[in-house]
Amino acid sequence: MNLHTELMKTKFPLEHPLYGRIESLQKAPFLTPAMLAEFTNTYSFEGSTELEVCPQCFFQTSGTTGRSKKIPYSEQDLERQKEHEALAFSIAGMSSEDVILTLAAPPPSISAWATINGSRKLGAEVVNTSYFDYEDAIKIGASRRVTTIFATPIVAQGVGELIQEKYGSIREVFPKLKRGIIFGDVLPPNLEKKLIELWDFEIRRLYGSVEADVLAIECGKGKGGLHIMADKLIFEIIPEEELKQMRENPDYSPRVKNIFECEDGERGEILVTDLIRDLLPLVRYRVGDIVEVHKEKCECGRETPRIRVLGRAANTVYLEGGPVYEMQLHLALNKTLGSDYSDWKAYVRGNGTDETFIDIRVETKRKFNSDIKEKFLKNLRRICSIKNINLARFVDIKFTDSLSETKIPKADEKSKRIIFA
Ligand SMILES: [Zn+2]
Repeated sequence: MNLHTELMKTKFPLEHPLYGRIESLQKAPFLTPAMLAEFTNTYSFEGSTELEVCPQCFFQTSGTTGRSKKIPYSEQDLERQKEHEALAFSIAGMSSEDVILTLAAPPPSISAWATINGSRKLGAEVVNTSYFDYEDAIKIGASRRVTTIFATPIVAQGVGELIQEKYGSIREVFPKLKRGIIFGDVLPPNLEKKLIELWDFEIRRLYGSVEADVLAIECGKGKGGLHIMADKLIFEIIPEEELKQMRENPDYSPRVKNIFECEDGERGEILVTDLIRDLLPLVRYRVGDIVEVHKEKCECGRETPRIRVLGRAANTVYLEGGPVYEMQLHLALNKTLGSDYSDWKAYVRGNGTDETFIDIRVETKRKFNSDIKEKFLKNLRRICSIKNINLARFVDIKFTDSLSETKIPKADEKSKRIIFA
């Protein structure tokens, strides 16, 4: 908790055109993606760098869910990001001995830049530039030295299947491959299993965003919990019950908790603060994800809290007032069906009302017995701690051969599984 006391003393009161004047973190308002997009698209920043490959001098979000945000970096800012990324990758087990293939998106996205520069800062070798040129590394044989790949879940799956089709065994193309650092989207349990079968590697989850870079990363012993990057970033959460109050009353001002003060297992929406930036400090930025906080000391020896990402806050389904998150639906499906399905979508009507209804469609080639719905509801009730209501009235599950047309995944694309009517 005292980790950032000195930093806060020197940085507050903070004055910046985006925020005006902020006296202290405790008094700071929330920064929403819409506010950040509005500001970064209209304000003229001075002192941002000109990356050769990124003439806009900014990293940008794809803007698929609203307006694109342009995040400016000074030369110094970029140097600090490289150190930050190198530290994160070392938590995931990387060292100067490693050879990297990146399947991330090129600038103006931050992801390929971060994977390359963070790896190089660590002294590792990088054999390609983005998901566009991974095949060159295979053709010249550089893939034979690769120990680590970076990819989003759907790109790891899509590219893995393409390589298998074209070159046969992935193990022969990547004989030294050890780990896959998977970022950019939740990693459902059945897809995790498929990626491990496909690539024959260990998975390390990386949680990050274009706005704040790496937020948390999985070590080899965290059992699915990701170590927060507390050296540079300050994390707070808006607890679950406060979110509920905010939902019921838009004027309600919620009580915010520093992540070091959270109970073990506490859940809420994550807020990120990055004060160590010349051009655009982030203060209480609402990344938009719900996380679960784990406080017990990790077997790797690090004492920083770990988090699990449960899903997008905007995708929370309220059943009888209780929240159901995307990851919980994944877990309940996986527990019920094993990995005998490829994906699912949930169509939600009347969210948060007495009439909330979740219509789940699961893509599978298998036929299940008629008691499968009952089994699924039992698992869902247990995983989400749903009280004793007649769940069958609020949730349905159906099976289908195909959810929708398959398409070539884009490097930064996220899956949209929860659809509100
Ligand atoms: Zn650990």
